[in-house]
Amino acid sequence: MDAPAARPLGHDTHEVTNQPPPYGGENAWTGDALLRSAVAREGAAWVEARAHALGALVAGEHLQTLAEQANRHTPELRTHDRYGHRVDAVEYHPAYHELMSAAFGAGVHSLAWTAEREGAFVARAALNYLWNQGENGVACPVTMSFAAVHVLRNEPALALEWEPKILAETYDPRPLPIMEKRAATVGMAMTEKQGGSDLRANATRAEPAGGGDYVLTGHKWFCSAPMSDGFLTLARTGKDLSCFLVPRSLPDGTRNRFLIQRLKDKVGNRSNASAEIEYDGTWAHRVGEEGRGIPTIIEMTHLTRFDIVVANAGMMRAALVQALHHCEHRSAFGRRLVEQPLMRNVLADLALEWEAATLLAFRLARAFDRHADSRERLLGRIVTPVAKYWVCKRINAFAVEAMECLGGSGYVEESPLARLYREAPVNGIWEGSGNVIALDVLRSIAKEPACVEAFFAEIAEAAAGEPRLAHLVDALKADLADAGALEVRARRVVEEMAVALQAALMTRHAAPAAADAFIATRLEGDWGACFGTLPARVDCGQLIDRARARA
Ligand SMILES: Cc1cc2nc3c(=O)[nH]c(=O)nc-3n(C[C@H](O)[C@H](O)[C@H](O)COP(=O)(O)OP(=O)(O)OC[C@H]3O[C@@H](n4cnc5c(N)ncnc54)[C@H](O)[C@@H]3O)c2cc1C
Repeated sequence: MDAPAARPLGHDTHEVTNQPPPYGGENAWTGDALLRSAVAREGAAWVEARAHALGALVAGEHLQTLAEQANRHTPELRTHDRYGHRVDAVEYHPAYHELMSAAFGAGVHSLAWTAEREGAFVARAALNYLWNQGENGVACPVTMSFAAVHVLRNEPALALEWEPKILAETYDPRPLPIMEKRAATVGMAMTEKQGGSDLRANATRAEPAGGGDYVLTGHKWFCSAPMSDGFLTLARTGKDLSCFLVPRSLPDGTRNRFLIQRLKDKVGNRSNASAEIEYDGTWAHRVGEEGRGIPTIIEMTHLTRFDIVVANAGMMRAALVQALHHCEHRSAFGRRLVEQPLMRNVLADLALEWEAATLLAFRLARAFDRHADSRERLLGRIVTPVAKYWVCKRINAFAVEAMECLGGSGYVEESPLARLYREAPVNGIWEGSGNVIALDVLRSIAKEPACVEAFFAEIAEAAAGEPRLAHLVDALKADLADAGALEVRARRVVEEMAVALQAALMTRHAAPAAADAFIATRLEGDWGACFGTLPARVDCGQLIDRARARA
């Protein structure tokens, strides 16, 4: 009997139609006119070549495949070697190492410190925004290494040894003493079982061992990127807390006593390991003044909080781009989704939220650049927690809505939206959870009342020409002046501060129609409880086109 004629492999039962083509990987820098204008306005147009290269990388298929692999094949803890020796190693999929090489090789962690020119923080923020469209787990060691530089400068001898390795634009995962490394990463370990937000509860003890060295005993309940080369940590010297650097390797080449007990099984952020660790006779060097551990390490969290604001704006962009791509190519009920009036309302509303978050992030970055100017320093002090609180709240609803734009295809692991959705809540928890951040705003105001003046001065010009914003400013001033139950009202006040500043930035820099839609909805309340509830008079097409505008 003759064999049946060979038929091509594939679907014999149906044709595949009405599916969007694979996302084309448009350069995330050149494809984002709003980003480019914000970066140029805030003083870092010179980052063009780096941003162009990174924009191509993060949107490319290769990096997206690495991101998918590194999050599917999660890190594993190996406590002992085959002979029973303790090794405390975390083993990562090769994709993770390649991602680390890409991020650190691009200077995403270091450009703010190495560029030595006007706009360095804005330039680095552009890289961070772009990187967070590629992969978010690696963003954790990137951010911690960036922020650690500032704290280590408290100890010039340590900074001399560590800083050139941290700032190197390369990645060296070898477990070696710092002097033998080509590059180093630094993490931080503060949170203990009995308290994370309230660091005063830290119980780890530090005994002096001579020459600024100490020996630590205790534990940390969360310690991310545990294969970093060093960790900034808190421990008690006497009754007060001091800040320490714990190196993973000792100068003689042996490993420090840094015992990894387990890895957390996390909701998202899965490519990045987060460990529970114990210090048991662990060698450490003090950083900063004895007994001033919290003020010393809090400088690091000020920078990581800033980074989170920028990261969330980047994540909003990533989610929006996927939603737009799908809706441009998918049809239902005889029309492309992007042409359906109700879907246009959803996409336009998301675009407004992303634009306001991006303007806020890059204005904040400029405040870090101009730290020497006291008004900018005060502005950075107060806007960092205000913006951290707000964009971390908005990203969750944003990610869900963007996912829904893809229908069922958004809810499967092959879609980048699944990863973004699971990643979204973590930025609102670490580096200070919502309530703690809202209370930090009140604390900043109490400590440096001039912060409030700097804040209102930033909004004044826009408010002078926009009565609806002026009305909110008056209400906010009254709210802040009323000390009664201010703590209970903290979230509400911080939310209003964030929206007022976003409205001022939209008034100054966005198209008039976009600023008007933002103010009508977010300030005046002509809006529903979900995205996609812009009033019918809003020109959604114009807002969507702004999000699609290329340079
Ligand atoms: C994935 C991941 C990785 C992490 N990596 C690290 C790391 O590398 N290093 C590190 O040190 N930590 C790390 N953390 C820990 C993180 O910083 C803490 O979980 C966070 O600061 C909250 O502390 P907590 O878990 O002890 O919660 P708690 O402090 O118990 O807070 C619980 C809730 O109570 C609220 N709350 C606290 N105080 C008040 C108050 N006065 N009024 C009202 N509400 C309040 C908080 O906002 C929060 O919602 C990580 C966490 C996660 C999820």
